[in-house]
Amino acid sequence: MKKKFIRAIFPGSFDPITNGHLDVIERSRKLFDELIVAVGRSPIKNPLFTPEERVEMVTELVKNMPGVSVESYDGLTVEYTSRKKADVILRGLRSVSDFHYEVTLAMTNRSIAGIETVFIMADAKNGFTSSTLIRDIASMGGDISHMVPSIVSKRLQRKLGEKK
Ligand code: ADP
Repeated sequence: MKKKFIRAIFPGSFDPITNGHLDVIERSRKLFDELIVAVGRSPIKNPLFTPEERVEMVTELVKNMPGVSVESYDGLTVEYTSRKKADVILRGLRSVSDFHYEVTLAMTNRSIAGIETVFIMADAKNGFTSSTLIRDIASMGGDISHMVPSIVSKRLQRKLGEKK
């Protein structure tokens, strides 16, 4: 039987992209034929970077990963997923609290659009890494260099300098 070509969408805020997100991208790109990292443009709570800045950082970090591309999108993730003719939505799971949130989202997306969600478990070393935590620690002058790639760390310092 011919293997089906599988295109996955990895949607998120990526404000900013972290080592946790990158690990999910690295591991899952081997499972799919094509992976689109989709940066949501919908307003989020206390955003730090603009959608354009977030896309720029992700683009730089995946530029040497064949099969991986980056885009931003507006509106419903399921509509974007259908527009891109993607087969699955990919999400990462860190904890039980992620699970609670993701179950509702995945069930809703399947019931309104018939789209399947595939989950990948966080790597143990990135299991506590979140963009929110990184924004909070960095804004209080803490060291986040082990949780994000160096280009993100530099951008964070610049951005927080501008905000002062
Ligand atoms: P959203 O606002 O849609 O949750 P995020 O950018 O916070 O966007 O996260 C995008 C996806 O990446 C989510 O599925 C989230 O669970 C997952 N994720 C975030 N951080 C990590 C991490 N450290 N390890 C694994 N998955 C993660």
